[in-house]
Amino acid sequence: MLTERQLFLNLIAQTSTAPMLLEPEYAEGVYVYDKKGIRYLDLIAGISVGNLGHRHPKVVDAIKKQVDKYLHLMVYGEYVQSPQVQLAQLLSHHLPPHLNSIYFTNSGAEATEGAMKLAKRYTGKFEIVCFNKSYHGSTQGALSLMGDEYFRNSFRPLLPGIIHLDYNDIHSLDVISDKTACVILEPIQAESGVVVPDLSFLIQLQRQCETHKALLIFDEAQTGMGRSGELFAFQKLGVTPDILLTAKALGGGLPLGAFISSNEIMSSLTHEPVLGHLTTFGGNPLSCAAGLAALQALLEEGWIKQVEKKEKLFHKLLKHPRVKMVRSCGLLMALEFESEAFNKRVIEECWKLELITDWFLFAPNYLRIAPPLIITEDEIEIACSIIIQAIEKATLEIKSI
Ligand code: PMP
Repeated sequence: MLTERQLFLNLIAQTSTAPMLLEPEYAEGVYVYDKKGIRYLDLIAGISVGNLGHRHPKVVDAIKKQVDKYLHLMVYGEYVQSPQVQLAQLLSHHLPPHLNSIYFTNSGAEATEGAMKLAKRYTGKFEIVCFNKSYHGSTQGALSLMGDEYFRNSFRPLLPGIIHLDYNDIHSLDVISDKTACVILEPIQAESGVVVPDLSFLIQLQRQCETHKALLIFDEAQTGMGRSGELFAFQKLGVTPDILLTAKALGGGLPLGAFISSNEIMSSLTHEPVLGHLTTFGGNPLSCAAGLAALQALLEEGWIKQVEKKEKLFHKLLKHPRVKMVRSCGLLMALEFESEAFNKRVIEECWKLELITDWFLFAPNYLRIAPPLIITEDEIEIACSIIIQAIEKATLEIKSI
């Protein structure tokens, strides 16, 4: 008889050449337990999803209550579903006044797709400016924006009129013109190993967008929901987008994304054509109930306020001659090593020491640290001591070769 691991490899479509193959049994807080009862400290939270940790009791409770009321009833935008409306109300209450119209999607990629369509429809233009080493999703529109030719190339033809610029290169922004429908970027670039742009770059970008009547879109799929130390990173940076994308942690562990804009901009999806963007499951009541409970807990339990102190503690404890740099924005952090091979050895050692970590898509020599925001200072000390042990082990191996 085949083991579940073999069945996984046979039956579940594979895209990775090296899947992690953890066999989870149970997860709670910052820990994932496997079938053998081994407890792993989760330092990546399902890639910036579990901001409140796994199975936060208030989120689990809200899901159970919603299960007893109703699940899917109707496609998006027809019925007045309380969890959706309440989540929109709470979210918009914590956003600038012009971000007052929320379109719920199932995922980050769908939020990107919706935002691209919205910008085209509202401006009547189709050129889109985006950035190298950015990731906005894997569907064809979002893939057209992907900032790496290696990942795009096999899937051409992609969308026309896409211009890729170097991130944080203020001089390249002259390319934005009256033809530009929108500029889309991550205000902190995650998959390039947590790159924080200069404020002058973001300010100039916003100016160019205003001058040329292009919409500014911030993708905060990874940086949103408190991870940066503010609810959204743009609130920390002080530059506000015309359209905000959020996903990942938004659903408290269930699939949920959103593109958020003004009533005025968003209303262009109601005519020519009517039903300008459709989804069956977007804003699903279960996901919204979980998202609402997660946002309430995030705000009420004060996790966002603790982010900066925890970020500093990581920095203090991660000093080692092999660590070239620690880049961070709140609890989204990247540890730079000399090479991809060394980083992957360190990651392997971390796993052996029961700590879950990973690398970045466009920065394979950087180790990912994006723990649940609820991680305690003691757990940070344990995590950092494991990482240092793993670095020591990898260093010894290199010396013995
Ligand atoms: N935008 C960013 C910045 C992301 O990091 C991701 C996912 N890693 C996405 C969009 C796509 O989200 P999803 O996987 O939910 O489609």
